[in-house]
Amino acid sequence: MNEKNTLFILGGGIAGLAAGYFAKERGLPFFILEPTSRLGGVYGTHQREIQGQLFRFDTGLYRFHFHNAESEAFFQTLLNQDLLKIKVEKQVFFNNNFIDLPLTSSNLQKHIGNFNFIKSSLRVIQGKLKRNDTELESFQDFAIDKYGQRISEAFFLNYAKKYWGLPAHKLSLDIANERINPLDFNPLAVESLFRNNDKKKESSQFFHYSKIGFEALTNTFLAQIEKEKIIYQQEITAINISDNKVISIEINDNVLIVEQVISTFPLPQLAQLISPRLPQSIAKAIQELTYRNIILFVLYLDVAQVSNNSIIYFPEKEYAFTRVFEPKNQNSASMPKDRTVLIVEIPSPMKRYWKNTFQRETMNQVLAQLAQIGLININDLLGTDTIPLPLTYPVLSNNYETPYQEVINYFEGIENLHLVGQSKLFNYTYLDEIIRSSEKKINNL
Ligand SMILES: Cc1cc2nc3c(=O)[nH]c(=O)nc-3n(C[C@H](O)[C@H](O)[C@H](O)COP(=O)(O)OP(=O)(O)OC[C@H]3O[C@@H](n4cnc5c(N)ncnc54)[C@H](O)[C@@H]3O)c2cc1C
Repeated sequence: MNEKNTLFILGGGIAGLAAGYFAKERGLPFFILEPTSRLGGVYGTHQREIQGQLFRFDTGLYRFHFHNAESEAFFQTLLNQDLLKIKVEKQVFFNNNFIDLPLTSSNLQKHIGNFNFIKSSLRVIQGKLKRNDTELESFQDFAIDKYGQRISEAFFLNYAKKYWGLPAHKLSLDIANERINPLDFNPLAVESLFRNNDKKKESSQFFHYSKIGFEALTNTFLAQIEKEKIIYQQEITAINISDNKVISIEINDNVLIVEQVISTFPLPQLAQLISPRLPQSIAKAIQELTYRNIILFVLYLDVAQVSNNSIIYFPEKEYAFTRVFEPKNQNSASMPKDRTVLIVEIPSPMKRYWKNTFQRETMNQVLAQLAQIGLININDLLGTDTIPLPLTYPVLSNNYETPYQEVINYFEGIENLHLVGQSKLFNYTYLDEIIRSSEKKINNL
């Protein structure tokens, strides 16, 4: 590796690959250093052959999300007009019923009962008349204020606890933000309590997906980035700082003198590498920033289709998992015609090593529960896989902002160290923001 004038990009997730792509476009010399043996970070294309048949599907991400028309046009150009608008079905499993999403008032009435429905509606009207948003302090306050106790408990509060690992009263109001609504339940906004909003229902059932899946994006990046620019399995052991500048990084016992570094590593990982050690106040702030791991439990099944849903949500606490995906329902290109795959998403705490959390009993319990509710028949099981996704998303507790800001200010104070991607945004971000953050950073170097 010739390090002179070279940009070192730490991490080969989408943010790191995008940084490499834009660096190449601008003619900047760069290397991407990926600690593992695969690219993509949270995103992956998983593949397995069973009885001579190939199962190939996306894991981690499930749709292209655009914040505006300009962002959509950008992606269409990037992916050579490969994006399709597809219709997807979603349901929530609640009280032994599969309920269609988005929830409509008639659906809600049916499943929570007339009495609770009227109570919730009154609560919403009351909230609308006298709500003062400044009194809301947590995600729990927001949910109860907006949907009433019964609906919040049924669909939001337990789910949020499972997803984020904290009781809803300790979760930030930011979780109520449209983009990170844990159940992807925005259509369950106030209006759905009063009327069937067909237009909204329609639009929430469509999303963008590539003909070949998310691989289209990584392929686009990789078509620009020469293979030798990506260095895998690089254990970075130190980022040496002097006079508020990174002077070198240490990789597999080699010291590289560097001029510009872009990091996409999760903040706690980045913090551990900084030498000399972080000031005590920053080290303390870092400890307050936590992440969730996700374990994906993949079931290969000898049936053509389990249901026509892309996603089924499980808000109830007796289920350790939050969502079940059936990727064939949004892209069947790489799946045997008469067989399918279910992906069960199980969040777990940051500090627990995944092998310990995902013990055989958990898998057996998941299988038994899915069989019991009629989603699978154990005799159809052809095989299973587990995919650990460590530090997948940050936990937005109701006091994350102060430590987050302290940490970001500290890192941004280091002249030639640049943060992009989820690490910088510390949020449940979508790819368009992630990629644009890499583009912007490269353009400003
Ligand atoms: C469950 C889930 C579903 C999502 N679904 C969608 C979706 O459908 N559509 C959408 O647009 N967005 C979605 N997102 C958001 C999107 O996946 C992320 O914003 C994006 O993938 C983040 O990319 P990144 O490169 O910033 O981070 P990452 O993908 O996390 O990559 C970070 C890099 O850091 C490295 N790294 C990770 N952990 C360590 C460690 N411990 N030590 C050292 N290095 C480490 C990785 O190897 C990788 O190189 C989803 C996110 C999650 C969590």
